[in-house]
Amino acid sequence: MSADRLLPTNNIVRPDKDRFLSENNPFEGMMSRFDRAAELLDLEPGIYKVLRHPEKQIITSIPVMLDNGEVEVFTGIRVLYNTSRGPAKGGIRFDMNVNLDEVTALAAWMTWKCAVVNIPFGGSKGGVICDPLKMSVGELERLTRRYTASIISTLGPDSDVPAPDVNTNERVMAWIMDTYSMRVGHTVTAVVTGKPVEMGGSLGRREATGRGCMIVTKQALVHLGMEIKGATLAVQGFGNVGSIGAQLLQREGCKVVAISDRTGGVHNPKGIDVDDAIAYVKEHKTLEGYPKGAPITNEQLLLLEVDVLLPAALENVITSKNAANVKAKIICEGANGPTTAAAEAILDEKGVFVIPDILANAGGVTVSYFEWVQDRGGYFWTEKTVIERLTEIMTHSFGAVLDLSKQHKVNMRTAAYMLAISRVATVHRLRGIYA
Ligand code: GLU
Repeated sequence: MSADRLLPTNNIVRPDKDRFLSENNPFEGMMSRFDRAAELLDLEPGIYKVLRHPEKQIITSIPVMLDNGEVEVFTGIRVLYNTSRGPAKGGIRFDMNVNLDEVTALAAWMTWKCAVVNIPFGGSKGGVICDPLKMSVGELERLTRRYTASIISTLGPDSDVPAPDVNTNERVMAWIMDTYSMRVGHTVTAVVTGKPVEMGGSLGRREATGRGCMIVTKQALVHLGMEIKGATLAVQGFGNVGSIGAQLLQREGCKVVAISDRTGGVHNPKGIDVDDAIAYVKEHKTLEGYPKGAPITNEQLLLLEVDVLLPAALENVITSKNAANVKAKIICEGANGPTTAAAEAILDEKGVFVIPDILANAGGVTVSYFEWVQDRGGYFWTEKTVIERLTEIMTHSFGAVLDLSKQHKVNMRTAAYMLAISRVATVHRLRGIYA
């Protein structure tokens, strides 16, 4: 584990806009969008400064006993970006590319995301630099428990509530919940969301992000006067978000013509049976060798002639290098930060309708909110109720962002940032500065 992977690329205090030079730094991409929206909102300098800074950043070393008896030290991060509207909320990812700037950007996005859908949470994010695919279940459990112990001072249903993200799942959430509960001496289900249903998880949480993507994509198609039946769809990333998003859009009548994961993908203009592909991945772990289409790379998939593109993997896949060649009419950002700021300008020029991440993938955290409410109330809802309430929130939020974008003649992303920032800023104004 090399320590230099974690070196923050910069000190987070960056009042100088001209320093936002790197297209691939998600924090800089987030900040450039924030600045544009703040300018349009004419945000007062004090609140502007507050909202450009994370509240808290924790970097921690995590020693883990490996199965071979050796000790490895991993690096973990947890960032609380803003908690003015409620407890910090945000996932934990296990990935080799985790770094402080990325996690800080993701924590800020969680803040804006929760505000866009108007749920009473702030934003946070966590990550551990590791390659979970090379680790045993026992090693992952020890890593998760020790990371949880290292950040325990921030965790709690009223302070900071993790959830799954890239390469983490229900089982990891169960370990976090158990570790926290053992430390405080009683069972606290509401300390994490995305848990197994048997231990306080919510029905419909697993499918929630993909379902949210489906709901807003349908709205975008209607807005643009396009038919849902037969609309072609390419999906990058076949994990929780991409596979469920593809499955639900297929059930609505879309034709899924390409899917991919980190091993590559398949293209089939006649359509891919998503249920069959999900069953294949269940058996083989990845899409590698999936026979029902022609092989395609992740880069090629993004440039296919389709109605809808659903990037549902990682950040910075649509950049200034490939944006001009994107042919999709709608991009639904299932991933966080898949489009760089430079690419966005190019897509705008081409007239691509982008449903921004902080709206498109907000279904997950919305049902996390439902899960937290159910845990605290000790009363659990039917799946039908969860789906109805999720549909209502996503539909309403899409409409609010679309209205704002028309009113200010800005794209959907700027409108979503404006809506989110104005909601967070209002709370800061009301609360004042504690001295
Ligand atoms: N990791 C998901 C996201 O990026 C869910 C976060 C949550 O539910 O707290 O939105």
